[in-house]
Amino acid sequence: MSDAETLFERIIAGEIPSEKVYEDATTYAFRDIAPQARVHVLVVPKKRYRNVAELAAADPQVLADIALAAKKVAELEGIDGSGYRVVFNTDGDAGQTVFHVHAHVLGGEQLGHFGR
Ligand code: 5GP
Repeated sequence: MSDAETLFERIIAGEIPSEKVYEDATTYAFRDIAPQARVHVLVVPKKRYRNVAELAAADPQVLADIALAAKKVAELEGIDGSGYRVVFNTDGDAGQTVFHVHAHVLGGEQLGHFGR
């Protein structure tokens, strides 16, 4: 297992410091170290799956928990009214670098279009 595969487990365990925004029984949310918008928070399940499809197949309730945690993060950050984006990158062309599924919650300003 590479360092990248264990990074978020170590953050959840408190072995690597993070700026926590929200936590519940199944999810942990913390600020991205390299924010791509004024608000950029990562929501991760405490149990590791490689990507969103593997999570959906194995535990759809936790996928729903992540969606609701993202809304909670938006409320706590004051952006639930202005709107926000939730992104799951999967593998190479999407730029996934940490293979522990995570939702990026982005907002706090007008976001650009995405794709190429
Ligand atoms: P991905 O590229 O896999 O979709 O997203 C991984 C995210 O994790 C990136 O946005 C990156 O900035 C963030 N990240 C990588 N290492 C750390 C870290 O040690 N702490 C925090 N808070 N974020 C990290």
